Amino acid sequence: MKKRALKVRIVGGGLAGVEAAHLLASRGVGVDLFEMRPARFTPAHKTGLLGELVCSNSLKGTDPETAHGLLKKEMQALGSLVIETALKTRVPAGKALAVDREAFAENLTRRIESNELISLIREEVEDIDPEIPTIIASGPLTSDRLAARLSEMTGSSRLFFYDAISPIIDAGSIDYGHAFFGSRWAPENTDYLNCPLDRDRYESFVHELIEADRVKARDFEDARFFDACLPIEVIAGRGIESLRFGPMRPVGIHDPKNGRLPYAVVQLRRENLKGDAYNMVGFQTRLTIPEQKRIFSMIPALRSAAILRYGSIHRNTFLDSPRIIKDDLSMRGYPNVYVAGQIIGVEGYVESASTGLIAGLSVLARLGGRSFIPPSADTAMGALLQYITRFPGDRFQPSNINFGIMEEPEAPKRNRKQVRLEKESVSFDRWMKSLSLSD
Ligand SMILES: Cc1cc2nc3c(=O)[nH]c(=O)nc-3n(C[C@H](O)[C@H](O)[C@H](O)COP(=O)(O)OP(=O)(O)OC[C@H]3O[C@@H](n4cnc5c(N)ncnc54)[C@H](O)[C@@H]3O)c2cc1C
Repeated sequence: MKKRALKVRIVGGGLAGVEAAHLLASRGVGVDLFEMRPARFTPAHKTGLLGELVCSNSLKGTDPETAHGLLKKEMQALGSLVIETALKTRVPAGKALAVDREAFAENLTRRIESNELISLIREEVEDIDPEIPTIIASGPLTSDRLAARLSEMTGSSRLFFYDAISPIIDAGSIDYGHAFFGSRWAPENTDYLNCPLDRDRYESFVHELIEADRVKARDFEDARFFDACLPIEVIAGRGIESLRFGPMRPVGIHDPKNGRLPYAVVQLRRENLKGDAYNMVGFQTRLTIPEQKRIFSMIPALRSAAILRYGSIHRNTFLDSPRIIKDDLSMRGYPNVYVAGQIIGVEGYVESASTGLIAGLSVLARLGGRSFIPPSADTAMGALLQYITRFPGDRFQPSNINFGIMEEPEAPKRNRKQVRLEKESVSFDRWMKSLSLSD
């Protein structure tokens, strides 16, 4: 009875918001769910329905031996409304969980509207009252006024508006005969791997970049971004020397083969502790995927490179979570204010929804006077949580779920996958038990 008197505010009726609202209501907690549509639209949403999928209708794979499959399995165990609805409105799409987008969003909306513990309030939230338990789940296209308030709460340098993603290369596919380690002025540093180009190669590379096919920007992806972080093809278009004075500058990088500075250099930075992946420094790009494959293979060290993640640039409001979000998803300095969904730096429909579940559980723990114990990083949900709250680098970029961010088990390569799956299962079950004990 006591729980019912208390109402939690949730801002945003997208994938994370509906999950959080449903989870709290299913545990007896009243919710005021604020959604600004249809009175005010984001630049991508087209309807007033909750949980509208703004682009693809695929929620990716369900195979429990993949990271995406594990995440879905964990969410189902927590009673995910998004996964339940997706399975109900599924359309044939091979191994992927694709949905009839209208039926999916209509079903979600009906479930929320018919829940007597949830009041759906069709209003734009412009302010956050730090005294009221609140989950902010306003997504990658958060309204400007709320973004301004968030920026005030976190400091303006902690809120980003664009993703500028550089490609990531599989370390095993690099031709090390054409590369050498060393950061600028520090040849002994092994965090950077340098891929030199001679003058002819550099000039053909620049020429191809300028001519290459690009992904078309959406109407709302205006030029504001480009002042802060330019795509390499735009830099290339400003003059043949521009890249050599920008991300490909060779200053301070001496080739140990001859002691000289290369004409131009592509720097790769170690992406993780394992050192099995490298990020192409400053290589955010809007080139299409086939063009990225073709043009980056012109760099001698990368001629057979396997690209694990392609470069991209798109509008995305997200917080510098490692600096401002705690592992219970509350905001540092605001113990009643929680944040979930894409705005905390996860990427993808299902990933966003999963953090709505975590935020709901975390608020539930707080209301019950308990501290929230996050799942460990060998589970899919725990890995996402660890990624967004403990990302070690200085330029945080959103991530989807993948085995690269899950804790690597100590096991020989040949049975590592099996060990990983077993560890995930044991850890997740243990965490679920700890939740039911504390309920
Ligand atoms: C253009 C675009 C395309 C994408 N395509 C894909 C894709 O194909 N596949 C994929 O997996 N992921 C995709 N994503 C990424 C991401 O998975 C989705 O954006 C996902 O919907 C995020 O879930 P969310 O709950 O965090 O935010 P959303 O689903 O966007 O929900 C946020 C809700 O908050 C509301 N809102 C915003 N501000 C306020 C306010 N001040 N007051 C009240 N309500 C407010 C919005 O109207 C919206 O309904 C895409 C993102 C964008 C921007």
